[in-house]
Amino acid sequence: MKDVTLSPRRLESYVAGAWRTGEGEGEPVANAATGAVHALIGTEGLDLGGALEWGRAVGGPALRAMTIHQRALMLKALGLKLMDLKEEFYEESFATGATRADSWPDIEGGIGTMLTFASKARREFPNARVLTEGPVEVLSRDASFMGQHILSPMEGVAIHINAYNFPVWGMLEKIAPSLIAGMPCLVKPATQTAYLTELVVRRMLETGLLPDGALQIVTGDPRDLLDHVTEQDVVTFTGSATTGQRLKAKSSIIANSVRFTMEADSLNASVLGGDAGPGTPEFDLFVREVAREMTAKAGQKCTAIRRILVPRVHEAAVVDALKARLGQVPIGLPSDPSVRMGALVSLRDRETVRVRVRELMTEAEIVAGDPDSCALVSGDDVAGAFMAPVLLRCADPLSSEAVHGVEAFGPVATLMPYDAPEEAIALARKGRGSLVSSVFTDDAGLAAKMATGLASFHGRVMIGNRASAKSSTGHGSPLAPLVHGGPGRAGGGEEMGGMRGVKHFMQRSAIQGPPSMLSAVTGQWVEGAPAQQDIHPFRKSLADLRIGDQIVTARRDVTEADVEHFAHFTGDTFYAHMDSDAAKANPFFEDRVAHGYLIASFAAGLFVDPEPGPVLANYGVDNLRFMMPVYFGDSLGVRLTCKEINPRENADHGEVRWDCQVTNQRDEVVAQYDVLTMVAKIWPMTMSEAAE
Ligand code: NAP
Repeated sequence: MKDVTLSPRRLESYVAGAWRTGEGEGEPVANAATGAVHALIGTEGLDLGGALEWGRAVGGPALRAMTIHQRALMLKALGLKLMDLKEEFYEESFATGATRADSWPDIEGGIGTMLTFASKARREFPNARVLTEGPVEVLSRDASFMGQHILSPMEGVAIHINAYNFPVWGMLEKIAPSLIAGMPCLVKPATQTAYLTELVVRRMLETGLLPDGALQIVTGDPRDLLDHVTEQDVVTFTGSATTGQRLKAKSSIIANSVRFTMEADSLNASVLGGDAGPGTPEFDLFVREVAREMTAKAGQKCTAIRRILVPRVHEAAVVDALKARLGQVPIGLPSDPSVRMGALVSLRDRETVRVRVRELMTEAEIVAGDPDSCALVSGDDVAGAFMAPVLLRCADPLSSEAVHGVEAFGPVATLMPYDAPEEAIALARKGRGSLVSSVFTDDAGLAAKMATGLASFHGRVMIGNRASAKSSTGHGSPLAPLVHGGPGRAGGGEEMGGMRGVKHFMQRSAIQGPPSMLSAVTGQWVEGAPAQQDIHPFRKSLADLRIGDQIVTARRDVTEADVEHFAHFTGDTFYAHMDSDAAKANPFFEDRVAHGYLIASFAAGLFVDPEPGPVLANYGVDNLRFMMPVYFGDSLGVRLTCKEINPRENADHGEVRWDCQVTNQRDEVVAQYDVLTMVAKIWPMTMSEAAE
């Protein structure tokens, strides 16, 4: 274990299977709050093209040999291990200028995001190596030619380039979906906070949970890294629009059509609804949220509120309330427990923010805070990059440009009055595409109007009111199950969004062919593929069950007495089952019809094998459709075919999906659905296995 208490610590890169130090002493990286040199960084002499080769040749095959569930379980184990080590990460994060509260979303939020991906992948994806997407498309009249979309892992390296402000979350939210997809990763953290990312990667690799080549890190200047990308690599970039656009336009990226996801800066707006005047819970929530977004991580959040849109009638009240709140924020050393706002990441960045404030002042006036001086409860504002929150006000935002375009990446926001909801929407859209916007209102009509007006310009819209005051995750938090990204200025990218995020690292291919071939490719039975009938498939454990195992049942007649009995027994006496005249008056029926649920129940009665056996439980049905009416005297039969088998990695059973087709005496399909069951891996199970 490398001693990370040494300061300054020489950072290393983990490339091509070893920790390596660049040539020379390395460039100094300062502690944001004290100015002391915290780390030395450099990549001089490292073979970065070789690192990508190593990932493709060693990491990729190892990951692709695993199933999706195996990779997800690996991430779960990794996440739990990281959670045990979190205190070490918090300690290191003070050097970035962030308080412990600031680092919570970065460290525990990052680990939580990884764990969420690990759990959703096992719930929402099959335990397979290839995913199918969407239904089988029948492409010929006789159904002998079909198409199916599949997703398979890209065979290159996912290169994740990150901004300085989320050194842990920024990495984990990207490597989780790529590793689940089966792509090895190379992480390139921003130089200014690379020491924290390097520490986390070091601890991840020490667990031995990741296969060789699955995770590499380059700390320091990435030099010619992107010159070596190939058509199978994927690049994700988070950072400033200027850098992002430069990298996206590299000839190696363009010539190889490399997927390039960009998350850049944006001037996110938060809107106070006209109904939410002083004295309402929404007014208080809005003021609290704006103040929090301005000061959390000293405003260095890509999702932070930069534009505060308030109804003109409430403007003075909002200014007063914000001034009062911002004036109470203790600023100082991030390790000081009394401090609520730490330092910006560097003195250079503070200078950039001050320059940006001066640009904003061409169209807006400062109403609170001084960009050039700041009272501290601890620390030294010459050595440390401290800055007071600065609130500006723009009187004429509709004809202004800078306030909608200049990002001061610090504790800075501009307040703007508006007169009508349409004007608030127009102002928010002047940001030309943002990651997130929020609306604080208790008026459902206004919320709907604002959300639909904002949606096409935003990746996320959060509505805040009294009902979710305690539970809301707030304006600024991207969440693993929801998309993060935004159009235009925000980079045009999309990350996370639950399992959608995994698919960014997979290639979608349309496979065309006869049913038997599609079934062979996907491992799922499709209509028309070979099926076999021997013993009842419910007598088979997963050890014996095969795709295409099938039972075709005897038939059962449906009588009026059955329908009467079912209706009175369940209480479902809907007229179409009970009243001949009323049923005939219905455009879909010629007479009284059997209940759909009676058909499904009779089907179960026809296909189940009643004796205790490897089928442990039925946990639902998917895609249930009643396709034709069933009249008294019709005769039902079932064809049940094993469609998909998903053995669980860490249990003695798995899920089996059965294609269930119910037909009448004319072989017309009257109902179609997937039956979902849990089936033992071996049968009989021992008592301890059954109890697990
Ligand atoms: P940055 O200067 O644009 O740098 C971003 C990343 O690009 C860093 O890791 C940087 O490495 C790397 N980079 C620079 N040149 C490169 C090259 N030739 N090849 C490969 N990588 C290269 O941004 P930052 O100052 O770190 O972050 C602040 C900005 O990021 C803000 O504008 C903020 O809005 C934005 N941001 C956006 C999001 C989002 O999710 N949309 C999240 C966080 C931040 P070095 O540090 O080594 O130069």
